[in-house]
Amino acid sequence: MHELSIMASLLDVAEEHARAAGAQKVLSIHVVVGERSSFVDDSLLFYFDALTPGRLAEGAKLVIRRTPMRFYCQTCERDYTPPMNSFRCPTCNTTGRLQDDGNACYLEHMEIET
Ligand SMILES: [Zn+2]
Repeated sequence: MHELSIMASLLDVAEEHARAAGAQKVLSIHVVVGERSSFVDDSLLFYFDALTPGRLAEGAKLVIRRTPMRFYCQTCERDYTPPMNSFRCPTCNTTGRLQDDGNACYLEHMEIET
């Protein structure tokens, strides 16, 4: 159920930007959602459809980009995405430095019609 509140706040932010840019209509909203977050695409899309009628974003397309959890391995000198049950580098088995916890949820960009 928390998809409802996150979607409501994403829409508020999107419409605030759209209004500031003089938009008549929002064509698409691109959001980044971490793979390890508990947000489910279908629920986000469902609430997006439920919340947009009568607003600037009515009829807009919601595009969800999933970002993986990422670590940086100092031994291999590269980023890696650990398997679900571990945080270790799949190549050398050391635990790297956390780069992205995979829990992102934010507005990436949007297209508007002025
Ligand atoms: Zn490694």
